Amino acid sequence: MEPCSGPGTLSAMDVTQEQQALREFAAERNWDQFHTPKNLAMALAGEAGELVALFQWLTPEQSKRIMDTTEAEQVRDELADVLIYALRLADVLDVDLSTALQDKVAKNHARYSIERSRDNAAKM
Ligand SMILES: [Mg+2]
Repeated sequence: MEPCSGPGTLSAMDVTQEQQALREFAAERNWDQFHTPKNLAMALAGEAGELVALFQWLTPEQSKRIMDTTEAEQVRDELADVLIYALRLADVLDVDLSTALQDKVAKNHARYSIERSRDNAAKM
C-alpha cells in the first residue's frame, strides 16, 4: 500500500500493519474458521449496534457531551470494535481499504456537490 497523507486517507494508522496484527490474533486462536465474510459482517453490525446503544435515549445535546461522561471509554471501545471488524472483513475479502476510502470519498464529492448539498442533509 502507498503511504497515505491526503484527505480521505488513513495516515494516522497503517491499515496493512493493523490488518496483519488482527490476522495473527485470529490465526493464533484458530479463529479463521469463524471469520467468514458473513460472520465478520454480522459482527461489524453487532458492534455498530453496541455503539448506537450508548447514544440511545440521549438528547442531541447529551450526545455531543458523551465524551465528557463515564461512557467515554465505552464509546472508544465500541468505535474500535467497529473498526476491528471492518479491517478484518476487508482483509478477508481482499479489499484495499485505503483505495476504497479514497474512491468512496471521490464518489461522495461528485454526488454531494457543495452547490446542491450546502445546508441540506437530504440523500442524493
Ligand atoms: Mg463491543
